[in-house]
Amino acid sequence: MVELVLVQGDITEQAVDAVVNAANSALLGGGGVDGAIHRKGGPAILAECRDLRASRYGKGLPTGAAVATTAGNLPARWVIHTVGPVWSARDDRSELLASCYRESLAVADELGAETVAFPAISTGIFGWPMDDGARIAIATVRSAHTDVRRVSFVLFTPDGYTTFEKALV
Ligand code: ADP
Repeated sequence: MVELVLVQGDITEQAVDAVVNAANSALLGGGGVDGAIHRKGGPAILAECRDLRASRYGKGLPTGAAVATTAGNLPARWVIHTVGPVWSARDDRSELLASCYRESLAVADELGAETVAFPAISTGIFGWPMDDGARIAIATVRSAHTDVRRVSFVLFTPDGYTTFEKALV
């Protein structure tokens, strides 16, 4: 079973095998986690993302999918880029959010990554309510079939941390 750990802090500072990026489908950087990863990780990550776009994802990385690059200057070895769904009150996109966690762990398995750090995918610019995002994140990782030993959820704000803490029980 995967060990789950909560951390309040910055995903770019996590010394784990792989950090997950809440990317957008263009793979060309953005705000939030994406901006921080490219800023601190340096241009090598963006160069690999451009290559991935050119070779495999001309139409963009689909929502719910995940793909890896190296991690440039970050302490992690790899960045796993995944595209979360934008929150919608009208249609239920929970399965796409769950897919981000599942597919990221599948990519981690391919890489042989044993420790993985996730941000709270979709809960920033994409507007997903933190409590529901936490519930989906934890349930999906708990039920995943993976060789990853430890998953940390890295929450940027004290509120996010408390919400995940409540969802963990
Ligand atoms: P999305 O577009 O998927 O919503 P964001 O990057 O906007 O992605 O936000 C996802 C979550 O990550 C939000 O809860 C946000 O507060 C948080 N966040 C922003 N910057 C960082 C960071 N450097 N480390 C960890 N979490 C972060």
